Parts: sequence; C-alpha cells; structure tokens
Amino acid sequence: MTELSKSEIAEIAGKLPIRTRAFIDGEYHPAASGQTFATVNPATGEHIADVAHCGGEDVDRAVRAARRAFDGGAWSRAAPEHRKEVLLKLADLVRAHAAEIAVMESTDVGKTISDAMDEIGGEAVSYFQWYAELADKTFGKVATTGEDALALIVKEPAGVAAAVLPWNFPFLMAVWKVATALAAGCSVILKPAEQTPLTTIYLAELATEAGVPPGVINALPGLGETTGQALGRHGDIDVISFTGSTEVGGYFMRYAGESNLKSVGLEMGGKSPFIVLDDADLDDDLIEHAALSAFWNAGQNCSANMRQIVDARRAGEYVERVTARANAYKVGDPLDPETEIGAMITSEHRDVVMGYIEKGRAEGARLVAGGATLDAPGYFVRPTVFDGLTPDMTISREEIFGPVLGVLPVRNFDEALAVANDTDYGLHATVFTRDIDRAIHMARRLPCGTVAVNGFTEGDVKTPFGGYKRSGSMARENGVEALDQYVQTKTIWISVGAMDAVS
Ligand code: NAP
Ligand code: MG
Repeated sequence: MTELSKSEIAEIAGKLPIRTRAFIDGEYHPAASGQTFATVNPATGEHIADVAHCGGEDVDRAVRAARRAFDGGAWSRAAPEHRKEVLLKLADLVRAHAAEIAVMESTDVGKTISDAMDEIGGEAVSYFQWYAELADKTFGKVATTGEDALALIVKEPAGVAAAVLPWNFPFLMAVWKVATALAAGCSVILKPAEQTPLTTIYLAELATEAGVPPGVINALPGLGETTGQALGRHGDIDVISFTGSTEVGGYFMRYAGESNLKSVGLEMGGKSPFIVLDDADLDDDLIEHAALSAFWNAGQNCSANMRQIVDARRAGEYVERVTARANAYKVGDPLDPETEIGAMITSEHRDVVMGYIEKGRAEGARLVAGGATLDAPGYFVRPTVFDGLTPDMTISREEIFGPVLGVLPVRNFDEALAVANDTDYGLHATVFTRDIDRAIHMARRLPCGTVAVNGFTEGDVKTPFGGYKRSGSMARENGVEALDQYVQTKTIWISVGAMDAVS
C-alpha cells in the first residue's frame, strides 16, 4: 500500500534522479565504447533513457577498482561497528528517497507503485538495518583441542563479489545481495537486468553518499551476453551471486568452470504449487492468498504459486471464487495507487505469456478468466485462470512468469503430494489445511526451499530463501545463511608450547 496521492506521484515522476552512466570507483563514467542501450517504460512503451552499455573494458575497470578497495582494507578490514553505522545510514537514505526510487522503479519496470513502495520504503530499508545489525554480531568459533593448540575458525570477506540481477524486483534483489555482501566486507559490482537499470545505478550512488568507500560498490548497466558474461568469466572476481532464469544460471556455472572457478550462488526459476487439502476453509483469506500467490507482481515472480492443486471435492467452489477475485483486480497504470496489477516487462514477454495461454487452451485446459491483453499502449495481460489442468500440460510444467493461475484437481493427500513434486523446480510451496499433522508431513515431503502453511509468504529478512533442484544452488538469500555466499572460512591453528616452558 502507498499513502502517496496521484498528484504527489506525478510531481515526483517529473524530477526523477535518472542516472545513465556506469558507477565505478565512486564516480559516473560512460561506457568505454561510448555505446548505450535504451530502457523503456513497459506501461506506455515510451523510451525513458539511453544507458551506458558496459563491455569488457568497463568490467575490467570496475574489477580493478573493487580489488584495490578490497585490498586497501577501508571496508574489508574496517571495524564491524563502522560497517554497521554506514549501512544504517544507507537504510535512512533509502527511506528518505523511497518515494522517488519507487516511482522510478514503477516507471522502469511497470510494477505498481504500491508494490514498489512496499519493496523499497519497507523491505529494502529493513534489509539494510538487519544486515547492519548483523555485521557486529557474527562470530567465529574455537575448536576443541588438546593443551598443545588453539584452533580458531574465522570468517573473512570473500573478496570481489558480482551480483547479476533480474528485472522483476530490480531494487530489492540488488538490496538483498548488496546488504549482505557489504555487511560481510566484500567489494561489490552490480549488473542490473537490461530492462531495469535505473534504480540499481542510483543505489550505488546512495551507498557512496552513506559512506561506502569508492570502489566498494560499483554498478555496470549492460546486456547479459556482454556485461554479464564478462563478469562471469573474469579471472579476478571471487563470487558471483546470480538471480534469474535457470538457463542463464547454468551459463554462470560454465563461465566459472572455464575461468577461475569462482564461487557461484544461484537463485532461479520455479513452478511452485499451492496445495488446498479437503479440510481447508475456503474463506476469503484463503482465496486472497491463492490470488496473491499467482498474481503478485503480475505473476512475474520466481515463487509464483501458479499450480494450484486442489482437492477435487472442493475444486468447483474454489475455481468459482478464485475467478471472481481474478476478475475484480484493477489492471493498468502502475502509477495509480489503486492499481493492483501492472505491466509485463516487454512486449516480447507479453507475447510469450499470451503464447502459454494459447497453449493451455490448445492442450485442453478450460479458460475461466482473463486470457486477454488490455486495449492500451503498454504490455498488459489480464489475470487469467484455467481450470482442469493435468500434470503433463505445458502450462503445468514450464514457468510462465505472467498472471496465470491453473487449478489441478486431485483425489487426496498422496496425489496432491505426487503432483506437487512432479516438477524440475523446488523453490516454494504453500499448503492450506486445518490439520497440523498433515501440514507438517506435507512440508517435510516437499523438496523446496520454502514451505508456507495457511498463508502465501516468502518469509522475511530473517529466514533463508532459495531453491532445491533446478531452482537454486545451495546458496541462500536472507537470514544469517545469506552471509555464507560472501565469506571464506579459515582455520588458524596455533601450536602452543608446553606449560613447563613458560612457567
Ligand atoms: P535472465 O534472463 O536469466 O537474466 C538475469 C540476469 O542475467 C540479467 O541481468 C541478464 O542480463 C543476465 N544474463 C542474461 N543472459 C546472460 C548471459 N548469456 N550471460 C550472462 N548473463 C546473462 O532472467 P530474467 O528474465 O531477468 O528474470 C526472470 C527469471 O528470474 C525467472 O526465471 C525467475 O524465476 C527468476 N527469479 C528468481 C528469483 C529467486 O530468488 N529465485 C528471484 C527473481 C527472479 P540481461 O538483462 O541483459 O539479459
Ligand atoms: Mg525499463
């Protein structure tokens, strides 16, 4: 929700802090090649700005700056209290600029202003605060030894980390990675998705204003095949933290294998189930969560619970109620505070989503809501509901990344579990039941990173988020666990002379 009025939003939109160059070593630079690419407003199709297209030379420059800063120690060896203070200041700066960042995000991404305000003024601020506080509250260990040794297990910042980002939550995904990497003491290079560079570049500027030293945070707008690949293959980057598609995640493993074997953390796609057992209350709360799980961020969400697996005895009523909710959504201008569903990121992506909807029909699913675009210049798709999905249909198997919800009726608990697990992905699942024993057995048998019971949620900053199977590597975002992506573990074994020798 946002308390901003339409006129306040319009005023902010007229003076956005749009930065179009790369941010390297505390300063803005054009791409060495002079090349640019366009970023577009998906809600109108209008050009917003031409942004520097960073190539190998720019990547080298940023890596050199990041390495120099890391080796210099102003951040990597700073007292944790100092890192905490700077990150808290950054939280304050993000809060102070939340409205303008949110309007810029909404304009660049096509997401609703109310979601953008939640993500930036709410979540992003809390991430910087939480990791700031963690910076001086994480400790190493001392192993048990005989008297002849003292064995320390210490954590050290891993070095130069590159964060390669998706377009669906550009600022928030940048913050998830930056807050953690900076708390750990790393230098960071951000590579935003080509469709959504604006708020990421600005984040680097704000971090610098907060006191992050030059070189410790850099932002390189550019394309995947050039900028992304150059980072993936760079010999002096220690860590890649990637969020995006499963296909490109695989490329980063290959890049690492063919270069310096850098550590690669992957957060990728999903095809998550929303399971409604026969005893669940089909009340307004459940229906709201069902719709939210599929339609939040116009379905452009890695944890979208598109596969709604519902006990057949309840499926008729369920479809009717979810359809009514879908039809009630307000779709359109993302800068209108009342809008609930914004645009698809590009016209090509809208066509992909519409292609899946056609495929669903052709393969025999029953379209009961939506299935159409908006008669407007932007790239909108109406919230769409299918009934009668079967597990083998294309729309039951492939990630659509659009506002599509499909109902798969099942006979019982065992079939619900089998259908839920019939996927290559393992990011998220939701289970609705009044029976706590069934909820726990279900949660234990779902191979995925997050299981939500009786409510759709990804958890919060304190709880790790990531995927099993093809949804992720062993890396996790959020929680204390997220620090593991950005630290090395060192053993310091100190041999201790005999007591006789010192007494
Ligand atoms: P994507 O196409 O994989 O792109 C992600 C990033 O990788 C972008 O910065 C992209 O740059 C870059 N990239 C693309 N091709 C590359 C290449 N050949 N080499 C190096 N880098 C390359 O994914 P997306 O379409 O932006 O995002 C949607 C996907 O992200 C979905 O599958 C979604 O499920 C997943 N996602 C996962 C999570 C999670 O936490 N698990 C969260 C959000 C999204 P360009 O923009 O220039 O192509
Ligand atoms: Mg854009």
